[in-house]
Amino acid sequence: MTSTTATPRKRLFIRTWGCQMNVYDSARMADVLAPIGYAPAETPEGADMVILNTCHIREKATEKLFSELGRLREAKQARRAEGGEMVLAVAGCVAQAEGAEITARAPWVDIVLGPQTYHKLPEMVARASRAAGAVIETDFPAEDKFDHLPDAAAPQGVTAFLTVQEGCDKFCSFCVVPYTRGAEFSRPVAGVLAEARRLVAAGAREVTLLGQNVNAYHGEGPEGRSWGLGRLLRALAEIPGLARLRYTTSHPRDVDDDLIAAHRDLPQLMPFLHLPVQSGSDRVLQAMNRGHTAADFLRIVDRLREARPDLALSSDFIAGHPGETAADFEQTMDLVRRVGFAQAFSFKYSARPGTPAAGAPFQVAEADKDARLQALQALLREQQDAFNRSRVGMTFPVLFTGPGRHPGQVAGRSPWLQPVHLTGPLSLIGTEAPVTVLAAHPNSLSGLLAAGDAPYDVQPEEEPAPA
Ligand code: SF4
Repeated sequence: MTSTTATPRKRLFIRTWGCQMNVYDSARMADVLAPIGYAPAETPEGADMVILNTCHIREKATEKLFSELGRLREAKQARRAEGGEMVLAVAGCVAQAEGAEITARAPWVDIVLGPQTYHKLPEMVARASRAAGAVIETDFPAEDKFDHLPDAAAPQGVTAFLTVQEGCDKFCSFCVVPYTRGAEFSRPVAGVLAEARRLVAAGAREVTLLGQNVNAYHGEGPEGRSWGLGRLLRALAEIPGLARLRYTTSHPRDVDDDLIAAHRDLPQLMPFLHLPVQSGSDRVLQAMNRGHTAADFLRIVDRLREARPDLALSSDFIAGHPGETAADFEQTMDLVRRVGFAQAFSFKYSARPGTPAAGAPFQVAEADKDARLQALQALLREQQDAFNRSRVGMTFPVLFTGPGRHPGQVAGRSPWLQPVHLTGPLSLIGTEAPVTVLAAHPNSLSGLLAAGDAPYDVQPEEEPAPA
């Protein structure tokens, strides 16, 4: 393989698991490979390169990876039988954590690379074509990978993601991120603003800032001083054409006064915040090494709601962390009742190898974990339904993002991130328009345009499948 722009088009297939940061990283890997001739392909069959961008958060991540690698071994052999080659790369958090196991169990893998080394992909592809074994890059290099990545190439559409921070120093007992993504690192302000301007020029109206600990952001500002997330959001809000801002994922410990003030001052900052709490029991929060109490969380929520009264909250919960008693779990239920969440993600605890909680005593019995998760999810579902129903009759701006599922429909997002559907022209896409909500569904809303001489009919549709 060569590294000239005259290289003929080669087909690149990327399978992405996990969070939006992985989706963003996959797009950047495609960007970095484009100059050496790789263009996106829809399927792995017949591809010249396949990248599996993995996630270590969910259960059985490693097993899923190896069964996928088994299938790809056959695709690689078929490609070779046709006289071609398929470069097979494993990226992401599983690659970072289990690089040696991957090359031992799947020697047909050509490249293993961790999340901090994506800018080295073209060089690794060249090395892989010469090497006898796999090329492995799982260091946490001192240099900023963002300095070495090309400008984001592919327009993302009306809504776009922008990574501003990576890694985590918090070491929660159950989480692999600090081991797979390394220490907290923030992109300098200038690079973030430049990328945001490019996204807006390419059609983005809403930008979501991404980071494993996004509100721990402390990027270097143009004057050489560190900026927090609040200040960064204020600068982004000045970009003409950037109508909406969001950020995820936050940690309660890093919600500072300036960030709360940004929620009060910036109309572009949407009134919806994902703020993981994990548990309502101080005992469990301490065992989780979260660095905050339930009361701290409630105080932050109160202050945020004072600053932005229409703010709705989403959170993450773990049921059955080692040591959690029935009484601890009841405290989680109490916290949920006290806050009232518009949306939430809840999981039963499952051990991640190498994390402190995995080897902790007092693991909770599966049946108890199941029962607690069911009770928690029933309460959270009730709250989500109530929140969706509370929007019926309200009129608020919807940002239209694409066609709906049925002919004649357009789809968009409410300020609270709910999907909204109505019958209307595709020319609405990319614009914000006021919509009156007429019906709430489990995961979406439907309504009609509030402005104009001829409002569009309501056409509630079936619930879309969850993402
Ligand atoms: S703060 Fe979040 S990313 Fe960091 S260790 Fe805890 S759960 Fe993982």
